[in-house]
Amino acid sequence: MTDKTIHKTIIIGSGPAGLTAAIYAGRANLKPIVFEGNQPGGQLTITTDVENFPGFPDGVMGPEMMDLFRNQAKKFGAECFFKHVTKVDFSSKPFKVYVGDEEFLSETVILSTGASARMLGLEAEKDLMGYGISTCATCDGYFFKDKEIVVVGGGDSAMEEASFLTKFAKKVTIIHRREVFKASKIMLERARNNPKIDIMVNKSILDIKGNQKDGVSSIILKDAIDGKETVFNCEGVFYGIGHIPNTDFLSMFLDVDENGYIITKADSTRTNIDGVFACGDVQDSHYRQAITAAGSGCMAAIDAEKFLENLE
Ligand code: NDP
Repeated sequence: MTDKTIHKTIIIGSGPAGLTAAIYAGRANLKPIVFEGNQPGGQLTITTDVENFPGFPDGVMGPEMMDLFRNQAKKFGAECFFKHVTKVDFSSKPFKVYVGDEEFLSETVILSTGASARMLGLEAEKDLMGYGISTCATCDGYFFKDKEIVVVGGGDSAMEEASFLTKFAKKVTIIHRREVFKASKIMLERARNNPKIDIMVNKSILDIKGNQKDGVSSIILKDAIDGKETVFNCEGVFYGIGHIPNTDFLSMFLDVDENGYIITKADSTRTNIDGVFACGDVQDSHYRQAITAAGSGCMAAIDAEKFLENLE
């Protein structure tokens, strides 16, 4: 199917960045089309309490907050679709955005596709993700009360997850593949000083054992120094090994950095293609907060509006 309408703006992605862009673009009368993607509402829909978003002094549940964002966007004329964009063509104008065989045309595109948790790439992930393996301590920590679990990674995410998980778990072991940590000193010290946390370095996870009925039972570790393989018993594995920006289908048109994040021009959301803007985690590997994503979503809508004004 081809929709011949040339839209003013199409927003791809529906986390805080995309939906804030939709609110602002809606209020600017751009009648934005939002393709929400495979995870409508974005990463916040897999968290529980959001306690640091200004305006919610008692906290708010992630999914509820994203519903509020969406309702606000719709109030100003945004049309939101639970569709996943598979391809874009930015080689000519109007830009083309594809959902499978369906083609949509737009004068501007706002990219807010976010980032996804990085995986180890183990076969066991297919079976055990959600059954003992998790990428989100805030979402799943509660299910590991009094259990022995591991957190893999050596950055701030791993330290934060490990510290958080000690609220529930009997013991948390951080497994890191090197001796040097990317984590900030303060987060690493906090983990080191926590009596419920052990840290193992120079270990890679080769395999995770378990089944969907009983969960995880152990992991197979390989030592980076002597190459020895050992079995380590545990009941849960949390991944804190970073995120990958969702730019697979975009990177042939857009300038991205060495980690795949879209490069935006200083003090703006402009990309290397005039009329294409990027906001939120897909262009920010540093702050990665709901509020910063929302802020950049606002910027993207304003940038798109100005761009369209100049065309006229
Ligand atoms: P980072 O990229 O900083 O760290 C990722 C960690 O995972 C590294 O230790 C890396 O190992 C390890 N890793 C990556 N791939 C693999 C793999 N295949 N197998 C084993 N280990 C792997 O990501 P984070 O998510 O920790 O942090 C991202 C950004 O967010 C940072 O800027 C961080 O400061 C920030 N952040 C801040 C927080 C806070 O201040 N409260 C909380 C969380 C994140 P190696 O070191 O060997 O590369």
